[in-house]
This record gives sequence, structure tokens and C-alpha cells, in this order.
Amino acid sequence: MKKKNISTILVMILLILSLVGCDSRNKVKEEGKFYIVTTTTMLADATRIIGGDYVVVTGLMGPGIDPHLYKASAGDVIAMQKADMVVFTGLHLEGKMGEVFENLNKLNKKTIKVSNGVDESVLLQSEDKSLAHDPHIWFDVSLWKDAVSELANGIKELDPEHSEEYENNLNKYLTELDELDAYIKNRALELDEEKRVLITAHDAFNYFGQAYGFQVKGIQGISTSSEAGTRDLRNLANFIVENEIKAIFIESSVPTKNIEALKEAVEAQGFDVKIGGELYSDSLGDGKSGDDTYIKTFTKNIDTIVDALK
Ligand SMILES: [Zn+2]
Repeated sequence: MKKKNISTILVMILLILSLVGCDSRNKVKEEGKFYIVTTTTMLADATRIIGGDYVVVTGLMGPGIDPHLYKASAGDVIAMQKADMVVFTGLHLEGKMGEVFENLNKLNKKTIKVSNGVDESVLLQSEDKSLAHDPHIWFDVSLWKDAVSELANGIKELDPEHSEEYENNLNKYLTELDELDAYIKNRALELDEEKRVLITAHDAFNYFGQAYGFQVKGIQGISTSSEAGTRDLRNLANFIVENEIKAIFIESSVPTKNIEALKEAVEAQGFDVKIGGELYSDSLGDGKSGDDTYIKTFTKNIDTIVDALK
């Protein structure tokens, strides 16, 4: 009942705002270009690269924004409504936006769920019972290639006239992603196996761990909407002391308090663990950091990890 009310209110807000033409948030729709709205920064980046000159992209979530907790604003709903296509990850990554996507489908809006491009058999199970699968597919470059290919298919369907250009953009990008994948693998091998242990604020890095040979532990579950328990914190502190882990990491889109609490719990046992730096998890870096593309962000991540654990 309550859900219905919210969606009715959203539709009403949408109607009212489109009638009065309140549209300050949207970029001006450029003539002859397709207007695509994406959720995460990873998707905005990929859509700009593949769409090239023929698309205008608006990303709803900025750098440092947590997609698990993000709620669509009225302005977001309008932007999606006006878009020629809406791109999202799926697998409940955008956990608070499910209803918005359902409404878009009801309105026959073209949507692309990029996780559809990833074979279900390679998806990791989620320990979080509210999610069937772990949604952090961009952490394994080979899976992200599948997601990006799905995105390219959607753009080609939207604008068949320029299919060939999109295909060329995709192929060029897939080659760059292969180079990134090789770079991450090579850097990971600079660490002995027992040193490849990654401890972060939330369980975002399981695909990364599987692809690049790291044991991964997060303080919070797969989604940041679950709370970390004090018992989990104590167990993790014991693990760090026993295995003499040199560094733990904060994440750009998750508050740092849990990692600081973990550091203190380790130090209470007389062992010194350093904070090895900030990793990008559920968002790319911003223009200021210079890590504002998927390739730059994940190059920075592996450099931070390997340099701190060495
Ligand atoms: Zn996450």
C-alpha cells in the first residue's frame, strides 16, 4: 500500500514539474544527439566512451556516492523520464531505485540493465540475504567487458544508424580494458600469495579477489545498508593480528568510521596496522583526483593496494 502511494506521488511530481517546465538540473538536450541517463559513475564513463559524439550523458550519482543507499530525487525522475534511454547496473546495486525502474518499464522507457550481459553462472552469491547475487561486477575487468558489451548493444538498438561507430568504439575500449586487466594481474603478482589479503569497509571486492588472487574481507556485508557488528570487528581484528596484515583500506563511497574502529581494535592488541589509503569501490574518482575514468580508477586501486601491502 505504502509503495503504491510513493510511486503515485512520484508520477504526480513528475507531471507537475514537466508541466511547469522546471528543468534546471538537466543538461540542454543537444540537437540530433541521444540523451542517455546512467546511474553510477562507472556507467556514465562507459556510455560516454561507447556513445562518443552521438550521445549526451547525464550520470545521476556523482563521485563518492554510495549506489546501495542512493534514492532518486524528483529531478532524477524527470531526467530519466526525458531520456531516450536509462542505463543501470541491476542485481539490486541501485537498491533503493527498483520501484523507479519498474515505473520506467511501465511507461515503455528504454532501459538497459548491464548485468544482463554477464552470464549468471559466473556471478558470485551474496551473503546479504536481501540480494541474490553480489552486484559489484565492475571489480573484475573481464566481467565489466561483458557489461560494457551489453551497454553497446543497447546503444546500437537505440541508434542503428551509427552501429558501426559504436562497434568501433566498443572494440577499441575492450582492447584498453584487456590492457588494464593485464596490468592489474602483473601488479598483483608483485605480492607473495600470503600478502594478497585485502581488508576494506564493505564486501565490494569479492570479484576483484577472485579475479586477481586476493583473499578479501569486508567489515560490512555486500550492501552498505547492513550494519557491522562488534563481533565481526573483533574477529577481523584477530585475523589481522594473527596474519600480521600490514594495511587495511578505506573506501571512497563508504564512511571511514568502521575502518578506524578496526584499526583501534587491532592496536588494542598491541599490533600496528596502517591505513593503506583510499580505494574506489562503488564510484569512480572525481576530476580533482584525476581518477575520473574506470581505467584510471582501477589502475589507482591496484597501485594503492600493492604499494601498501608490499
Ligand atoms: Zn557496494
